[in-house]
Amino acid sequence: MIEEKIKQKLEILAQIEDLENQVQQQLKDLRKQKTLQCKHCNTHEQIQNISVIQTLWYTPPSGCIEGGYWNDGELNYICTTCNVRNRLLFQRTKKEIEEASKDFRDWDGYRNKKKEFQFSLLYKPLFKEIIDIKDKDLPGSFVNNDMLDFEVL
Ligand SMILES: [Zn+2]
Repeated sequence: MIEEKIKQKLEILAQIEDLENQVQQQLKDLRKQKTLQCKHCNTHEQIQNISVIQTLWYTPPSGCIEGGYWNDGELNYICTTCNVRNRLLFQRTKKEIEEASKDFRDWDGYRNKKKEFQFSLLYKPLFKEIIDIKDKDLPGSFVNNDMLDFEVL
């Protein structure tokens, strides 16, 4: 009797897992089709068609065992229309940062940092490709693309 109840519950759990996988796949498809807008020429491009650049910055060696490795920095992409590099920043304007810093809690700052993290986590794998470039090797001309209106779903 108890075994039968456990079997039923396991079946329900399996159905929920199936449903969750379906929803996750739908979310991925939706995210891939979202567009980024170039801050230089205003062209929209779908995430699935963009080669994203993962910038890398170096922690130099210190002592015997520390440092000597590369860290993930920003996500950038080069607009295929105007060839200008867009830095995806999720940062606020200088004025907004000054306003937020007046408030010791700075919830906005926290939320924006979190948004950048979420974007990297959820969207980075969905770009056409990921190209690692060390920050000293980045191509010269760029624009800051503050992704303030981008809804991380
Ligand atoms: Zn452009």
